[in-house]
Amino acid sequence: MSDDTSAECATCHEPLAESHVGSCPKCGATGKLWKLKLSADARVVASLRYLHERKYWKTHPVLLSIVLAIVLSSPFLGLVLAGWPGVTVGLVVSVAGFVAGLFAVTRVHHTREGGS
Ligand SMILES: [Zn+2]
Repeated sequence: MSDDTSAECATCHEPLAESHVGSCPKCGATGKLWKLKLSADARVVASLRYLHERKYWKTHPVLLSIVLAIVLSSPFLGLVLAGWPGVTVGLVVSVAGFVAGLFAVTRVHHTREGGS
């Protein structure tokens, strides 16, 4: 930013010294006009950022079918098998169902971020 000041007669616009006091040497008027010139430079900086999110459930049909088959067949295994063999088979089947269930339905959350 810079500035420039000057003075002149308010009536005839004769240039006057800024320190001039009294009447105009050209026309005799007493009004004094101050001129002030201002200039400035401005710089604007802008940026843009974005975040794209996508959330959904991803299902694996084969694994989901296995989990459903285990859930539906477990009560009938208990009907057929009894005692410790039933406990062992029930344990194996429930662990298999648990593992298949971990991958049968998955919550997916994608994010993409960018900007300039
Ligand atoms: Zn004047």
